[in-house]
Amino acid sequence: MASALTEKLSRLVKQISGQARITESNVADMLREVRMALLEADVALPVVRDFIARVKDKALGQEVMGSLKPGQALVGIVNRELAATMGEGVADLNLATQPPAVILMAGLQGAGKTTTTAKLARHLITKRKKKVLTVSADVYRPAAIEQLKTVSAQAGAEWFPSTPDQKPVDIARAALDYAKKHYFDVLLVDTAGRLAIDEALMREITELHAVLNPVETLFVVDAMQGQDAANTAKAFKEALPLTGIILTKTDGDSRGGAALSVRAITGAPIKFAGTSEKIDGLEVFDAERHAGRILG
Ligand code: GDP
Repeated sequence: MASALTEKLSRLVKQISGQARITESNVADMLREVRMALLEADVALPVVRDFIARVKDKALGQEVMGSLKPGQALVGIVNRELAATMGEGVADLNLATQPPAVILMAGLQGAGKTTTTAKLARHLITKRKKKVLTVSADVYRPAAIEQLKTVSAQAGAEWFPSTPDQKPVDIARAALDYAKKHYFDVLLVDTAGRLAIDEALMREITELHAVLNPVETLFVVDAMQGQDAANTAKAFKEALPLTGIILTKTDGDSRGGAALSVRAITGAPIKFAGTSEKIDGLEVFDAERHAGRILG
């Protein structure tokens, strides 16, 4: 099935079909349509600019200029560039370390960290037969600790208690110690978020990272955040060596441009997508399928 973008480009090509050959200005018109499609999907502006520059380089070559079907040739280039940016295939969790493998969850408040921590616990228990411990280092919101307790029980994971009067790094050390003593395969660490990026939050999560030495540091980001996702991703990437991304709320009505922005900015693979509020609403991320959705 032709995408909306392919149709638009074909229409442009029909308008110029009387010409002997396609010109650079025709290519510029087509690139404008690609740019619009990406912006409509809420891909961040700097990411769109870089993307268009890369496509332009290729589009001015023989493949488009010399083609009998330049519209389709250009869509081919766009699709390949999208696939190259988004990453091909699927990237599973890396647990290749001396157990317990620590997974650190990072992201803004409301992104879906706590829910996703439990979803991951369930994934690891059911699909990879792991013994999983969860802990919350969010000492600012007592409700967050309780929430993790509840969802961990739903996931069938053991939950390590923490309290708001503790320091996050002390919680992390105690949980790691417990996980080692009781032979857990994986320790999932939920962390505090803020409504916006702030220095104290970044310092805290950097300290947690140093204490825990996680094999996975996952950035959890809301697909509905659109343009803002790019700024958040940039700040977290500067603070932490991210190993993967989890895109939540992909069941919402966003066109999914956040995926492209976050992937381009962090360079880290998107490993999972949240698809509902439920404990089993987590899918291994399929980059190709998602790329199709961005073009509409
Ligand atoms: P946190 O502050 O980052 O820990 O965020 P929460 O885990 O508390 O999630 C915030 C809200 O987003 C909750 O109402 C979750 O049920 C909801 N949520 C999380 N992931 C998803 C998802 O993939 N799809 C939908 N529809 N809702 C989600």
